Amino acid sequence: MSNEKDLMEKIVSLCKRRGFVFPGSEIYGGFANSWNYGPVGVELKNNIKQLWWKRFVQQRSDMVGIDAALIMKPAVWEASGHLKNFSDPLVECKNCHTRFRADKIDITKPCEICGKAAGFTEAKMFNLMFKTFIGPAEEQANIAYFRPETAQAMFVDFKNVLDTSRKTIPFGIGQIGKAFRNEITPGNFIFRTREFEQMEIEYFIPVPKSDEEWNKYFEMWRGNMLSWIKDDLGILPEHIHELEVPKEELAHYSKRTIDFEYHFPFGVDELYGLAYRTDFDLKNHSEKSGQDLRYTDPQTGEKYLPHVIEPTWGVDRSVLAVLCESYREEADRVYLSLPPKLAPYKAAVFPLLKNKPELVKKAKEIHLALSTSNLALGPIAWDDRGNVGKRYYSQDEIGTPFCVTVDFQSLEDNTVTVRNRDTKEQPRVGAGELRDYISKQIY
Ligand code: ATP
Repeated sequence: MSNEKDLMEKIVSLCKRRGFVFPGSEIYGGFANSWNYGPVGVELKNNIKQLWWKRFVQQRSDMVGIDAALIMKPAVWEASGHLKNFSDPLVECKNCHTRFRADKIDITKPCEICGKAAGFTEAKMFNLMFKTFIGPAEEQANIAYFRPETAQAMFVDFKNVLDTSRKTIPFGIGQIGKAFRNEITPGNFIFRTREFEQMEIEYFIPVPKSDEEWNKYFEMWRGNMLSWIKDDLGILPEHIHELEVPKEELAHYSKRTIDFEYHFPFGVDELYGLAYRTDFDLKNHSEKSGQDLRYTDPQTGEKYLPHVIEPTWGVDRSVLAVLCESYREEADRVYLSLPPKLAPYKAAVFPLLKNKPELVKKAKEIHLALSTSNLALGPIAWDDRGNVGKRYYSQDEIGTPFCVTVDFQSLEDNTVTVRNRDTKEQPRVGAGELRDYISKQIY
């Protein structure tokens, strides 16, 4: 990881230049803090989400998934405490009127925007829920909210999942989806936006009789999260800091929270969170909905409200951390040393020369075989523009692990060069063995 101060600017610029992330509504002058994922950005983001879903939902017998509505009945947010408590303290500089989150700045110092020591207004609590109206009449009775987290649907659907999935406790529900927060100070590219994606799990456990009992599950998820960060995202453990959130700063529902922080170029900040939510949510939803959300133990017949461990991952912060972690600069090139599983393209195929039909034909056949057969590797890039050096350069910048070139020798002995992104080595590989050769190194 580069330590340069301007690393963030370089990443934002690379993202725009190569199609990872574009400024939202750009042709209209942009829309503050809104970002769109471009052709390679969507692949990277989807790879992260698919890997997560596979690892934490599909490959575990104690997990199932759901995909719930973004707008839920306001009663949900009443019961969850979000309408009352989901607020940040807002202060305003008395000179330039810039608004800040009071817990993110030092209010005894001059304003970081205008530099004046005019002081700040009293902190006011600002609710972060995004409001909208259901139906044509903009009346109080029709107010609804976009979900500020994916978690609540997993509590609200708990009984439905239980009744249909034959799961026994302990088990978890996972969900990936958008969440909306009217953040006071969004910024740092895709780190803090008002519309973002989460990957969350609510893991239901028996009522703990001691702290050890819930801590056992808490530790299990802590280990899973660390291993995801290291093994799946390829982030070095020394770039991660675990912050035990002090008791007085815990969210209204949490008894213990760890923030997994990453050394972003702009500072150490939250990547993921892990919380012990007790039975706070199921209890409140039971009381407020009047529905019995208790679980019945199949062995003992005992009925109880399960407790919950909640590991939560931000998708966009994952993308940003992976980009920061894999950004490399050498004298003659910039490249992203992405874990191959996350790379937008698994390989690129080039004909050495665009104007030699026999080279183009063979390269097209190879491209087709790698990308569309039953044993397809995943998305394979095609490039026949410019010279091979330029093609390598652009594939390096999007982190493509292998570049396959079909040259004149290929026509004679059916071998191709396979250039490795990280080592720049270019061994010749038989066209018939190409798929296995690449696949072995990716998967
Ligand atoms: P922060 O302290 O940074 O505001 P949080 O503690 O409120 O974050 P959680 O409510 O725990 O965040 O949300 C779970 C995860 O969702 C976070 O760890 C983060 O990865 C992601 N996330 C939260 N808010 C945003 C946002 N505004 N933009 C992008 N990702 C976010």
